[in-house]
Amino acid sequence: MEIGTEMRKGVSSLYEDQLHSGFESLRFGDFLEDEFRQDYLEANFQKSRLVIGLSLIVVIGVTLVDMFASTDASRFMGKFGFTLMTPMLLFTLISSYIGHRLVYQALLALSALVIGVAGSVVDVQASLAGQGYYFAGQVGWIFMIWSLLGLLFSAAAALCALVSLIYLGLAAYVGLPSEQLFFEGFMLLNINLLGGYSCYKIEFAARRTYLESRILNQRAERDGLTGLYKRRAFDEYIERIWRQSRREQSHLIIMLIDIDHFKPYNDLYGHQAGDDALKQVAEVIADSVQRPLDMAARYGGEEFALVLYGAESDYSSDFPERLRQRVLDLGTVHEAATHTKFLSISIGVAVVNPDTRRSLAGAIQMADEALYQAKEEGRNRLVIKQSGTTEIETGRFRARAAS
Ligand code: GH3
Ligand code: MG
Ligand code: MG
Repeated sequence: MEIGTEMRKGVSSLYEDQLHSGFESLRFGDFLEDEFRQDYLEANFQKSRLVIGLSLIVVIGVTLVDMFASTDASRFMGKFGFTLMTPMLLFTLISSYIGHRLVYQALLALSALVIGVAGSVVDVQASLAGQGYYFAGQVGWIFMIWSLLGLLFSAAAALCALVSLIYLGLAAYVGLPSEQLFFEGFMLLNINLLGGYSCYKIEFAARRTYLESRILNQRAERDGLTGLYKRRAFDEYIERIWRQSRREQSHLIIMLIDIDHFKPYNDLYGHQAGDDALKQVAEVIADSVQRPLDMAARYGGEEFALVLYGAESDYSSDFPERLRQRVLDLGTVHEAATHTKFLSISIGVAVVNPDTRRSLAGAIQMADEALYQAKEEGRNRLVIKQSGTTEIETGRFRARAAS
């Protein structure tokens, strides 16, 4: 998946929030809506192309027969088929192979409308000539729009309403008998209710599946205790963002965060209290990560890692300083700490400009050394290292156990 297409935020998941807040109106929040639509239309792409292909064969067949038929309505249908429907369907089909997906979607909707309107004209003509059975084609096409073209409910509803109203308007205009008008109106109402219901249900189920599958994926990537990303997800992500950063010539801020004197905290207050404190610190960290390309993870036991992409340079000190302060402000009493009586964190910050001479491992090592220095200097503080001023020595990477 490309960077930026997935939210890299903290504990709460957009997908879970959306699942809880519901989507009866068949609409997600802005970010998810676009992603879902792309996903849904893509999933229905093959099916809709098949339907368009089959429709093309049917239209060509009917057109050939009708062009040589004896009745006016049939010849009319032949003309429409030849000049309008066939080219329309053909363009749509071709665009599915060569065009942009948005063009294909637009042509698909336009085909549905054009065929529906052309069909209405032909049906009304046929009815006037006593061939009322053409109406079945109209009903079939409306059902097709609802259920087989893979359109979103909103698009299908607009198209079907338009086609049905145009048909009824034409039928009334040319003065078809009121009994027939009433019966056909009733049929159209029924088929629209039925088609609309099934289209709604299908899209609703697709939305639920979309949210659930993403929530499951996220859970696999998330740490059970803190809800932050696991180290493995962080390692994969930072590799991609490192490459992106190199391409875009922008800098990265990498931070390693470690809770101070956490072992004594556990020893004094118990493991459960330790877990609670970890969760609180993780929440502060998750909360601080607001921009889409930034990411926070639980790096190991009581260690966290953060990467900020292309942030302003004053971020490298302001951001970790705010973080340090906010953890202190939690006011978690820690009687066993030597430097302060509250739970605190130390932060190692590396500001790097990825280029070909630098390695990612070296950059992480730099943050690690900064963290080590912060501990040495008394904890509850941050140390910042800039790649321009500090030579990164690769190969001397202090081994760190993966959790
Ligand atoms: P320093 O300030 O130098 O970082 O000291 P420290 O005591 O925090 O560091 P040390 O590495 O000695 O101890 C880390 C402790 O973190 C040990 C372990 O009991 C605790 N820890 C790690 N993971 C968890 C966890 O998931 N839950 C709890 N409650 N404790 C954890
Ligand atoms: Mg540690
Ligand atoms: Mg520690």
